[in-house]
Amino acid sequence: MRFVPARQAEQAAARRRRAGSETALSRTRRARRIQRILAQTYPYAVAELDFDDAWQLLVATVLSAQTTDIRVNAVTPGLFAAYPGPRELAEAPAEDVQEMVRSLGFYRSKARSIQALAARVVDEYDGTVPGTLAQLVTLPGVGRKTANVVLGNAFGVPGITVDTHFGRLARRLGWTVQDDPVKVEADVAALFPPALWTELSHELIYHGRRICHSRRPACGVCPVADLCPSYGEGPTDPEAARQLLGYELKPGREDLLAGFMAGRTRRQLRAEGHTLSA
Ligand code: SF4
Repeated sequence: MRFVPARQAEQAAARRRRAGSETALSRTRRARRIQRILAQTYPYAVAELDFDDAWQLLVATVLSAQTTDIRVNAVTPGLFAAYPGPRELAEAPAEDVQEMVRSLGFYRSKARSIQALAARVVDEYDGTVPGTLAQLVTLPGVGRKTANVVLGNAFGVPGITVDTHFGRLARRLGWTVQDDPVKVEADVAALFPPALWTELSHELIYHGRRICHSRRPACGVCPVADLCPSYGEGPTDPEAARQLLGYELKPGREDLLAGFMAGRTRRQLRAEGHTLSA
């Protein structure tokens, strides 16, 4: 991982302050440089929800509201084994579905949501998940964020997924001043070519989960510290910052990181006994 000494990050911040407001061109250049560094830091970044097809990703994304991807990944294999497709899920007894998703919290409403979703996919789209944003957002419980996750990861259509991590990081990195996810999406889309949108979404979300946490970002070990206007929001001392790292970057998880870097999949690493949680 790229290491930026505190002195270099501070000098860069001082230079930026002296230069005053940033031009659109220099913001674009800085944003793309940050993306290239994040791509080198997390070359293994993918959707952290497990899925085999668009239907499974759609259901998993709806289930992931207000819980972690890790919890959803623990539930979906059983759910999809019992109800392989939308038809089976739509026809399943409500109590059985509730039981299967109980550990995710809000299990009654989550079970209701995915069964309503299944019924609509069967009735309107003959059991096949539609592949456009306009169609996806008409499905019950599917907003722009979920639709972009499915488009980007299951259909290969570029999409920017503005979740809580993405929004926070886009603001900290000075790519937007907006809070509204649709406006954040538009500002970030203007900085990058569409071919990078899906990959960038994963990279920013990975960075938010592992280093640039909401409360105490690990600025002292951040690989983009010299390019970030918010450097210093978290501890800048490298040792203190290291203790804040999460997931495979956490001290003591070097084997897991090496496995990711060697191209092993999340499923392979789990099967080998690694814990992928924070
Ligand atoms: S960890 Fe600190 S330096 Fe890195 S992106 Fe977040 S706020 Fe900026």
